Amino acid sequence: MITFYEYEDSEKKVFSKNLNKFSLIFFNRPIGKNPKDTEVLVIFIRSKINAKILDKMPSLKLIVTRSTGYDHIDLKECVKRNITVCNIPTYGEKTVAEHTFALLLAISRKIIDSNKKKTFRTSHLRGFDLNKKTLGLIGCGNIGQHVAKMAFGFDMDVVVYDIKQDKKLAKDIGFRYVPLEKVLKSDIISIHVPLNNHTKHLVNRKMFKNMNNGVVLINTSRGEIIDTKALLSSLKSKKIAYAGLDVLERSSLNPQLFKLNNVIITPHNAFNSIEALERINNTTIQNILKFYKNKPINTIKWQH
Ligand code: NAD
Repeated sequence: MITFYEYEDSEKKVFSKNLNKFSLIFFNRPIGKNPKDTEVLVIFIRSKINAKILDKMPSLKLIVTRSTGYDHIDLKECVKRNITVCNIPTYGEKTVAEHTFALLLAISRKIIDSNKKKTFRTSHLRGFDLNKKTLGLIGCGNIGQHVAKMAFGFDMDVVVYDIKQDKKLAKDIGFRYVPLEKVLKSDIISIHVPLNNHTKHLVNRKMFKNMNNGVVLINTSRGEIIDTKALLSSLKSKKIAYAGLDVLERSSLNPQLFKLNNVIITPHNAFNSIEALERINNTTIQNILKFYKNKPINTIKWQH
C-alpha cells in the first residue's frame, strides 16, 4: 500500500494512472499524529516524520518526499528501522533560482507598490539597478549555481561561500569563492544551503552586524537558517534595507514580520511551477518503481 499526503487533485490523477498496480490511499493534509500504517509513504514538506510517527507505521519500508529538502524527516530514526528515504534532488534548481530573482526584482523595482491598480504616481517608486551590484551566495549547489548564472545576465559580480568548492564550476560560471565574512559585505545576499544542525541560525545577530548597512537579503532555502528575532530587529533598524523571504522559521514573531513594509513574503512557493511539478511527479513515480525493482534511486544518506 502507498499512502500519499499533501497531494493536489492534478497529482492524484497522475499517480493513480502510473501506479495502478498498487493500492493507493490519498490524504490532502499533512500526516497527523496517528497515521495509517503503510508500506510506502509519499509526503511533502509539511509532514514531519519523527520516531513517534514511525512507531505507528511498523510496515513502512520507503518514504518519498516530493521535495529537495529533507529536514522534516528524522533520518537517524529511519536508518534504525531500515526505512529507505528518497527525495527529488534536481527538479527545480532553475525554478527556485527564477523565484529568487522574482523576489529580488520585486524589491529592486518596487513591483508590489508599483501595481498600477493602486497608484499612478512614481516619485515613491524609485528602485535600484542590479547591474554592477555584488551578489553574495551562501551555498552554491544545484540552485545557487543557477542563481549565479542568472546574475551574470544582469552584469552583477558574484561571490560565493560554500563548504565545498568546485573550482571548475567557479571558472565556468565566473564567480569567486570567498570566506563567509566577505560574502556578508555584498550588496545582496541570497541563501541556498540546506537546513541541518550546522546551518540552523547560521544567519544570526553577529552576522547581521557584519553585513553592510542597507543590504538586501533573499531566502528561498529554509526559514530556520535565519534567526527571526535578529532579522526582525535588523529590518526595523534598516540595517537590512529589504528582505525577500519564501520561507519562514516557525516563530511567534512572524506577525511582526508581516507588518513591515521592507519585506516581501511568499508562502514557500519557489518550487511551484507547472514544469517543476511535472518533474516532481515523474521522479516520485520513478523513486517508487525503482525501489520495488530493488534498484532504489535518489536515496538520502544519513550523515552524523
Ligand atoms: P544542494 O545540496 O545542491 O546545494 C547546497 C549547497 O550548500 C552545497 O553546495 C553545499 O556544499 C552547501 N552547504 C551545505 N552546508 C553548508 C554550510 N554549512 N555552509 C556553506 N555551504 C554549505 O541543494 P540545492 O538543490 O541547491 O537546494 C538548497 C536548499 O534549497 C534545499 O536544501 C532546500 O532546503 C531549499 N529548497 C527550497 C525550495 C523552495 O520551494 N523554497 C525548493 C527546493 C529547495
